[in-house]
Amino acid sequence: MCPCLYMVIPCYNEEKVLPITSEIFLNKMKELVSLGKVSKDSRIMFVNDGSRDKTWEIIKDLSQKEEYIIGICQSRNRGHQNAVLAGIMEAKDKCDITISIDCDGQDDVNAMNKMVDEYLEGAEIVYGVRSKRDTDTFFKRFTAETFYKLLNSMGAEVVYNHADYRLVSSKVLQEFENFKEVNLFLRGMFPMVGFKSTSVYYERAERVAGKSHYPLAKMLGLAFDGITSLSIKPLRIITGMGFVVALISFLGIIKFLLDKFMGNTVAGWASLVCILCMVSGIQMVCMGILGEYIGKIYMEVKGRPRYIISERTYQEQRDQ
Ligand code: UDP
Ligand code: MG
Repeated sequence: MCPCLYMVIPCYNEEKVLPITSEIFLNKMKELVSLGKVSKDSRIMFVNDGSRDKTWEIIKDLSQKEEYIIGICQSRNRGHQNAVLAGIMEAKDKCDITISIDCDGQDDVNAMNKMVDEYLEGAEIVYGVRSKRDTDTFFKRFTAETFYKLLNSMGAEVVYNHADYRLVSSKVLQEFENFKEVNLFLRGMFPMVGFKSTSVYYERAERVAGKSHYPLAKMLGLAFDGITSLSIKPLRIITGMGFVVALISFLGIIKFLLDKFMGNTVAGWASLVCILCMVSGIQMVCMGILGEYIGKIYMEVKGRPRYIISERTYQEQRDQ
């Protein structure tokens, strides 16, 4: 029995890209079906993440023309991670495996053959890993590499150079459903689910059209979210820093007292101001980090839905 595959593809303002890449995904799906690697009821599921352009119209149009293509629409833009989650959760009871992939043509669809093979050999999660980053600018490469190193040094288990191109079996998704957090960082969460996993390597290309939705500020935001969602190490660092500053202050106090008793009481304005600035600076940073975690707790406590599907290109069967 060959598995039923759902490709899950998040799209946000991709009207320039979709007509080109939908063709690529469709050809790959047809190839996988004809090779007997996946079953005929497999589907390509586009997730429209509240696009403001014609993306949803294009998806609806494609779904009418092509049996393999279906689409769901989010009620508004919620970001890449939530769009992927909406897609894989929607797909989880309909298929045996999902493969999430960006819709901009940067990830090589040919790696899917190997991914499915790995699944058939027993892996439940297969990470798509970029073998090199030649097409990225030096800056993007540098920031991305620093990001992975930082994440791992903070204790978050993230596969190096793996983005959100991955095969996940429905068995894993059934368990993943219990990970209820609102602050999503999928690539760091799947390793926590466990199960047998492996990696497949591919070369990442350039976007076929359009612009990246991850400018520097958003990338830094994702890096920060990644760290604070997966690790409490920064809090430990703050505690450590607190001890160090306290120790230095203690030594300083001894020195100043000694100075006083020895009669060298020069007006220590400069040293006082320096210490004051340093300590208050450190305190501000620490409070910021604490605030970051409190903000996360606040969002988690609210427990708002992580995605809301407003439309589908197909009829959803109701649970009785
Ligand atoms: N995306 C999305 N919602 C967003 C931003 C991006 O669904 O709010 C999708 C986008 O359409 C693409 C994928 O996420 O398929 C990755 O985005 P992008 O290519 O802009 O990021 P990059 O590859 O530059 O990191
Ligand atoms: Mg991209």
